[in-house]
Amino acid sequence: MQKDGEEKRTGLVADWNTLQRIFIRPEDEQGRQTLVKYMEQILFGLHEFLNSHVGVTEEISLKALTRDFKETVISEHPEKKLADVITDIIKEIAPRAVNVTSPYFVGHMTSAIPFFMVHLKTIETALNQNVVKLETSKVLSVLEKQVLAKIHRLIFKMGGDFYQRHVQSIDTSLGAFTAGGTTANITALWIARNRLFKPCTGFSGVENEGMARAMQVYGVERVVVFVSRRFHFSLRKAGGLLGIGNDSIIPVDVDERHRMDMAALKKEIAALNADGKAKIAAVVGIAGATETGAVDPLNDIADICDREGVHFHVDAAWGGPVLFSEKYAHLLDGIHRADSVTVDCHKQFYMPMSSGMIYFRDPYAMDEIAYYSEYVNRPGSVDLGIKSLEGSREASSLILDSALKIMGSRGYALMIEHGIETARKFAQEIETHGMFELVTRPGLNILTYRVVPPPLKFREGIPAALEERRNALLNRLNTDLQRKQREQGKSFVSRTTLKASQADETGKVVLRAVIMNPLTDIAVLKEILDEQADICRQLEKNYQKELAAFR
Ligand SMILES: *Cc1c(COP(=O)(O)O)cnc(C)c1O
Repeated sequence: MQKDGEEKRTGLVADWNTLQRIFIRPEDEQGRQTLVKYMEQILFGLHEFLNSHVGVTEEISLKALTRDFKETVISEHPEKKLADVITDIIKEIAPRAVNVTSPYFVGHMTSAIPFFMVHLKTIETALNQNVVKLETSKVLSVLEKQVLAKIHRLIFKMGGDFYQRHVQSIDTSLGAFTAGGTTANITALWIARNRLFKPCTGFSGVENEGMARAMQVYGVERVVVFVSRRFHFSLRKAGGLLGIGNDSIIPVDVDERHRMDMAALKKEIAALNADGKAKIAAVVGIAGATETGAVDPLNDIADICDREGVHFHVDAAWGGPVLFSEKYAHLLDGIHRADSVTVDCHKQFYMPMSSGMIYFRDPYAMDEIAYYSEYVNRPGSVDLGIKSLEGSREASSLILDSALKIMGSRGYALMIEHGIETARKFAQEIETHGMFELVTRPGLNILTYRVVPPPLKFREGIPAALEERRNALLNRLNTDLQRKQREQGKSFVSRTTLKASQADETGKVVLRAVIMNPLTDIAVLKEILDEQADICRQLEKNYQKELAAFR
């Protein structure tokens, strides 16, 4: 607790008068100007940081960073005024944060966002609507249904009549906004599970009676979900939460392009059916795998799901907005045949953190998870909280709707096309550069590669044992390189380990580039490669002995 002495020092007191002042909008000119000044401070103070701070992040260890963040007592009286808090954030926090807006930050699915997003987010905060129910959001609930219908139409392309019927229908839902891709995926599998164990004589459904009883009634011992080996780990969380167990989220092997292998999927399904004691809750196809950007053969998976009568979920958290591009929408062929589709807002819709969406082809699918309560979400109301994993929610649809108006589908298409085409140029650059090896060709705008110094170049007929040692050495080298580059703080490329199959215990450590910032061009990427080649040459000195075996 803050002592009286400190209170005198700061001159700030938590009292009733001050409290009221922060809730009442300033009436006089001076008060208004102060508030405007603060907003300017935020927009331009941060702007300056982002411009002057060309590199990705300040060179500082996590240990040093945590030193200033160990106080755990809340002060009784105010420590600072708003103006000082803002200054502190600009001076102390921002420079130690990660400049994800830098064109040299190409390692993750988080990047620069158009400047107008800051304005839209501010409006959202100022209105502070809660779309859990109509009584706290009114037109924002109506708007959400409209925006959901627009994106549903982009994905599923049902006729105009269909959307006229459902866009504002109280009884049906085309989808929902979520906290992100994770909760969207969980929602999809939740509904798939409930549809699998639907009510029957003497059983009111798995949502009511739970998994143990459902499995008993249906005479099954196991419920599984098939996913590509490149699946996002959020699906495992769904397995845990839904009581089917994350071991039952079964990875299916991928082909050489890192797409789910259809022969492998058929084999898995046949084995499962032969056993007769297990049921498939869903097959998940990925439209833009997190690690490689690969898109699974959605039409082929849809065929199999049709035949087996299984829920088909498409995880398009990353790739969904590719549908805006006339040139590249075909890469997602078959997505319209999904039963459910996940799309993130804070990825390729370039919205601020954090927001995602889940869509269902069947407007009644979400009835599976309807929950009512007496004080909100009464039956027969349009309250969006009735069919939603989340409770209170921000009105993200306001931002998406505005962004769609400001950008147009063509605006989004331009960004998508820039990403895909720049990634392809980058792949060429990697292949012609003597020091690197392209590991996965760009699936959409994500690619993986690794540094391979000349002595470690792959040679035909290399004995298996030596090849194993070569790969292990490359793994260490690439791990060191990625770490070093991150520490230097000029640019950022991420790292992952790609395993070919269950049997592949070591896997390949690869560098992963995600090209989404419109300001990241091939010149920037060449600089990043040059920096990596330099780091590699320095690292080689530490590996003299190991490298000698390969010379
Ligand atoms: C990012 C991502 C997710 C998870 O989304 P969050 O918004 O991080 O929760 C799921 N699936 C894929 C394919 C993703 O790329």
